[in-house]
Amino acid sequence: MSSSSRQHLDFLLPLHRRLYSGCKILCVLSIGFVLASCAVVSEVPEISNYELQQEARKQLEFAERTIVERTHKLANLSWPILVNNLEMCDDFVRYRTGLWLSRQSSILTSLSWASDGEQTIGQEPVVWGVAAESPSAKAGIEVGDRILAIDSKLVKSSADARRLLSKATKKFMAERTDPIQFLIQRDDERKRIDVQPVLACRSEISLAGGTRINAYATGRHIRIYNGIFTFTETDEELQYVIAHELAHNISNHVIYARARGAIGVVFDLLVLRWNVWTNGGFSRLSVRAFTKPYEVEADYLALYLLANAGIDSTGVENLWRRFATEDISRIGWVLTHPSTPERFIRLRKTREEIEAKQQRNEKLLPERK
Ligand SMILES: [Zn+2]
Repeated sequence: MSSSSRQHLDFLLPLHRRLYSGCKILCVLSIGFVLASCAVVSEVPEISNYELQQEARKQLEFAERTIVERTHKLANLSWPILVNNLEMCDDFVRYRTGLWLSRQSSILTSLSWASDGEQTIGQEPVVWGVAAESPSAKAGIEVGDRILAIDSKLVKSSADARRLLSKATKKFMAERTDPIQFLIQRDDERKRIDVQPVLACRSEISLAGGTRINAYATGRHIRIYNGIFTFTETDEELQYVIAHELAHNISNHVIYARARGAIGVVFDLLVLRWNVWTNGGFSRLSVRAFTKPYEVEADYLALYLLANAGIDSTGVENLWRRFATEDISRIGWVLTHPSTPERFIRLRKTREEIEAKQQRNEKLLPERK
C-alpha cells in the first residue's frame, strides 16, 4: 500500500469510528425513549398551550413582585452602610441618588414566550427600589414610578435609564452642582422631580438569579443570590452579608485574587512544555488558595462598616451556626474559606473590640498592621 493511500485510510478510520459510536448513542437514546414512554401507565390530565401560557404569565408576575420587593429591601438595608462609611471607602466613592432601577436579566429574556410578545421583566425603565432617607426618597420618587426622561433626555429602556443616571451622577465628581431632573409617570400623572445626589460608597448592589445561599463581589459590584433572602433571619444578618461584600470591594480583594490567578496561568503555560494540559488548574488553585485571609478580613471590616452605620450586629454570627447545619463540611478545615466555627468566634471578638472603642468614644476604624 502506498503511503498516500495509508494516509487516506488513517484519515477515514477515526471518522468511521465516530459515526459508529454516534449511531450507538442514538440507538441507546431511542430505546430509552421507547422504554420510558412504555413505563408510564397512568392517565395524567391533559394541558393546553393556553393554560400553560396563562400559568407561566402568573408565575412571571409573582417573580417580578418578589424581585421588586427584594430590590427595595436591598436599597433600604444597604443605604446606611453606603453613606456612613466614606472614610473606610476612601476613594471608592461616588455620588448616588438612592434609586435602584429595573434591570433585565438573560434568564428572563429566555422566558419571553410566556408573556405573549409583551415586554418581559426588567425591560421597562421602572423604579424597583428607593432607599429610605436617600435624596430620591426625600424628593418623592416611589417604587413603581416609570422614568420617562433624565435631564431632559428621553429614556427608552431600563438599560438606558441606568446609563443616563450613571452619566449624570459622574458629573458631580467634577463640576456639576445642580440637581438631576427626573420626568416620571405615576398612574395617569406626569411629574418632574429634582434629586440632589450625595456622596456614598460606590458599589452597585443587585440580585443575582438562582437560589444559592451566597453573595459575591466583582471588585466594583455586589450580587446577592435569592437564597440569602430566605436564609437570613434578620435585616441585620442581610446587612452583614452586604457589608462583607462591600469590604471585599473597598479592599481590592478581587483585584489581588485575579493577580494571583495570573501567576497560576504562568505555571499552567510552563507545564505545557512537557505536554501536560492542566485545564487552568494552577490558575484556579492560586485564586482559591489565597482567598482565606481575604474572607477573614472582609468579616472583620464588615462589622466596622455596620457599626459606623449605627447597625447593631449582635447575633449576626449565628448565621454561621445555621450555615454549618446546611453544609456540615464547613465546620471542618476548608482550603478556600475560614471554617464556620472560626467565622463565628472572630465575629464575636471583633464586636467586643468595637464595643470597647465605643465605650472609649474612639473613632470606629479597623486596626491596621
Ligand atoms: Zn467573601
